[in-house]
Amino acid sequence: MGLPNGVELILAPNPSLLTGPGTNTYLIAAGEGHGGCVVIDPGPEDAGHLTKIAEMAEARGGLNAILITHGHPDHVEGAARLRELTGAPVLAWSRAGSPQADALLADEQVFLIGGRQVRALHTPGHRFDHLCFLLEDAGALFAGDLVAGVGTVVIAPPEGDLAEYMASLRRLLALELRVILPAHGPQIDEPRTLLEQYIAHRNEREAQVLAGLAAGPVTVDALVASIYADVDPRLHPMAALSLTAHLLKLEREGRVAREADATGTERWRLA
Ligand SMILES: [Zn+2]
Repeated sequence: MGLPNGVELILAPNPSLLTGPGTNTYLIAAGEGHGGCVVIDPGPEDAGHLTKIAEMAEARGGLNAILITHGHPDHVEGAARLRELTGAPVLAWSRAGSPQADALLADEQVFLIGGRQVRALHTPGHRFDHLCFLLEDAGALFAGDLVAGVGTVVIAPPEGDLAEYMASLRRLLALELRVILPAHGPQIDEPRTLLEQYIAHRNEREAQVLAGLAAGPVTVDALVASIYADVDPRLHPMAALSLTAHLLKLEREGRVAREADATGTERWRLA
């Protein structure tokens, strides 16, 4: 299955360990009989990338709006420059998340691109300000960093919140989606399967964390060493954040607790 009608992908030149092949910038054209388009996630501050987006938008009748999934630099950094090039307003969940925002979007807010409806869905977890955008006529979800076409999604406290993330995944599972278009990696043609896998993966990780505490109090680093033994050590700092996200969720649920010894070393234990 290709991209939905009128949707184009412009890959930003910012590949890395965390961004995969780079940020996917999406352009949604208004469709038959209408001019105009919107862009989702302008991506990094890269002159060539932003000029290309502006030219493509111009050729489709002009840019109506710049939509931001969340305020991480690989998504939003180029927003102000693209606004300068096109005159289009920047729309995001909050100015705390994206200081560049000209106007804010509410949960379930619907706006029109020509005859097409796009619905903003507040889906926190990866970050507090995260929005997904649903292109209703295509059943297409522009998922930002809530899911990824490659690699995994990082839930790093304090910005990331695992309980909120799980709730956002379950919310998406309730939608009739035909395709997910993530900000990193290829499109996902079986949305339900992927979302169920994501939920199962986090549940398995939670079980590993609880098992890792069963023999007595341990540090986060010791948990990382046992749970991520077969993972590239370059990813261990991120793994520590991810396990911390699990521990904070479990702490809030009253299932684990932490204690510090005389040297200030923090250890987690079952509650
Ligand atoms: Zn992000």
